[in-house]
Amino acid sequence: MAAKRDYYEVLGVARNASQQEIKKAYRKLALKHHPDVAENKEESEALFKEINEAYEVLSDEQKRAAYDRYGHAAFDPTSGPGGFGGTGFGFGGIEDIFDMFFGGARGRGGPVRGADREVELEIDLEDAVFGVEKELQVTRLERCDSCGGSGAQPGTEPVACPSCQGSGQVRTVQSTPFGRFESVRTCGRCGGRGRVIEKPCRQCGGSGQVRRRRPVTLRVPAGVDSGSRLRVAGEGEPGQAGGPPGDLYVYIRVRPHAVFERRGQDLVCEVSVSMVEAALGAEITVPTIEGEQRLQIPEGTQADTVFKLRGKGVPHLRTHRRGDQLVVVKVKVPTGLSERQRQLLREFAAEEPHRKEGHRKGLFDKVKDALGGQG
Ligand SMILES: [Zn+2]
Ligand SMILES: [Zn+2]
Repeated sequence: MAAKRDYYEVLGVARNASQQEIKKAYRKLALKHHPDVAENKEESEALFKEINEAYEVLSDEQKRAAYDRYGHAAFDPTSGPGGFGGTGFGFGGIEDIFDMFFGGARGRGGPVRGADREVELEIDLEDAVFGVEKELQVTRLERCDSCGGSGAQPGTEPVACPSCQGSGQVRTVQSTPFGRFESVRTCGRCGGRGRVIEKPCRQCGGSGQVRRRRPVTLRVPAGVDSGSRLRVAGEGEPGQAGGPPGDLYVYIRVRPHAVFERRGQDLVCEVSVSMVEAALGAEITVPTIEGEQRLQIPEGTQADTVFKLRGKGVPHLRTHRRGDQLVVVKVKVPTGLSERQRQLLREFAAEEPHRKEGHRKGLFDKVKDALGGQG
């Protein structure tokens, strides 16, 4: 058996290193050489044990003092009084390290809140305006039916952990020339749960949970828009060991609409009218999100005139006040005229007030300027 390495050397710290330096060095090494993450499992296991042993001594002022004075002999059961067999330095799972440094609620069998889940939901504009109830199919972890959540193969049961006899904690007693040191730590084998699974359930691999699709009813409020985020409390992943479940977050995406374009709380649409309707005025039919509606346009309506239908837009999420609908009038110039229509238009033109030459030139110049400006 190789000679025991010096604890300071193991952690790579100076003999006068502060507790903080020791802790820092240990954390770095422990994370690097943890058997769960290292490549060479056997080598890392031995290293990890050595690192833990060094840390356990150097992080304890009393033990460190003993070690500084007597070296490894301070903890050698054959040379000290009492003589408890073995050094008894166990090491826990990686969660122990995280617990130690991050104070997390991992492992240890304590309650852990379930993770949040995110899904995307595509809805029609109508649903965004009026609100809708949707049934989502969400996959999430649920209790395994096969083992009832225990993780043990049906017909078997988790048994009391042989390392800690079911207590979840391991006691370590060391005898030194200064007396016996007793320490209690979480059992690494069962992670503090006190029970271990000998034959894992085949359905869930021992986790006690399986991924399953299940329907979740979601009430989408009127006024949502693309990018709106809805929270469904308690519909995320289930918690562990009695912890509350996470939440489900639903991201809304509103499909583009064939007729309406949304601008904030307003809905914009275009409506074509004939040249004659625009000139004489007319009652036309316009679409709204609630169905068709009549709209009176006055005589002499110009192209691109915008009419406002109050309260026909999208409701505000909180105030519920609805925006407006903006109707943009497009004037169709007739094509495929009959000879008689042409004749009538010529007669119409002859009746028009005389156009001034200057006005025509002005328009022509404008066009020329526009083209010239580009070229
Ligand atoms: Zn199972
Ligand atoms: Zn145990």
